[in-house]
Amino acid sequence: MEKDILIIGAGPAGLAAATYATRSGYSVLLLDGMAPGGQLLLIDEIENYPGHAKMSGAQLAEEMEKQAESFGAEIMYDEVSSLEKDGSFFIANLASGDKVKAKSVICATGATHRTLGAEGEEKYTGRGVSYCATCDGPFFRNKDVVVVGGGDTALTDALYLAKITKSVVIVHRRNEFRAQKLLVERALKADNISFELENNVVCINGDGSKVTSVTLKDGKEIKADGVFIFVGVLPNTKFLEGFVSLDKSGAVMTDSAMRTSVEGFFAAGDCRNTLFRQVVTAASDGALAAHSADEYILSLK
Ligand code: NAP
Repeated sequence: MEKDILIIGAGPAGLAAATYATRSGYSVLLLDGMAPGGQLLLIDEIENYPGHAKMSGAQLAEEMEKQAESFGAEIMYDEVSSLEKDGSFFIANLASGDKVKAKSVICATGATHRTLGAEGEEKYTGRGVSYCATCDGPFFRNKDVVVVGGGDTALTDALYLAKITKSVVIVHRRNEFRAQKLLVERALKADNISFELENNVVCINGDGSKVTSVTLKDGKEIKADGVFIFVGVLPNTKFLEGFVSLDKSGAVMTDSAMRTSVEGFFAAGDCRNTLFRQVVTAASDGALAAHSADEYILSLK
């Protein structure tokens, strides 16, 4: 298959890039491993996307998908195993065995959650240990849960869990939060949220089939039916190792126009070395990447 622009990943960055690129008259293939939306699909409620006071992540994803498709973007479910540059064309080798040829590529593969590395974490994943409050929170209705982390995800999801569960204990390794002040203030005000600061979960205990408690660094044991771990994200860029410059965390290094070390290859959203991983910044990156891809393709003529 041959297209002007191949976009890898259909989260907000990829969908915005697809809308901009197709509106500019380019043929676009958008590849995604699952349903379009990326991490949007894990967000219960978004209240800081301009123009949308309150909506679910899934609703916003659906609107972005429809918008990109309305201008002619084609969405296909497959994964890129490797990429190569052949003259002025890129060749993407897909997991299915297919190949896509494109003049320019925009990588918008996003990021996935990091694990904590606590004893018992792997054993109890899916049996009390979770990395997604929207997906698993409802299983812990009226139960006691622990949230690990002090970033936006930990605080946002602790507030969501507090609406469903009996109690939430936020365990954070420092006494200052990376999360936005507003979220911390809301958590401090919530009746059923308490904090364990300058502490960490070192062991997740259970009865063999489900979580029963956690042991903290200071030796304290807290009863818990569920443990939600939100300790940051890892960029989904493994397949790009050796192809493009990545930073220490694995994020694609870009300039402010989303250009990378490979001419014609751009990166947008959570997979790049960005300061702020938000839906709105991912969408903005996508628009910039599409603009840069446009300039690059014009320069080939
Ligand atoms: P993050 O901002 O990187 O925060 C990770 C948290 O985990 C930090 O508090 C960090 O502690 C802690 N942590 C890391 N390693 C740890 C370890 N080994 N043990 C204990 N704690 C550990 O990640 P995030 O919260 O997933 O957010 C990712 C991005 O998405 C951010 O840019 C965020 O702004 C964005 N986001 C935005 C929203 C929103 O706007 N509503 C919602 C969710 C996410 P330290 O602080 O001590 O480093």
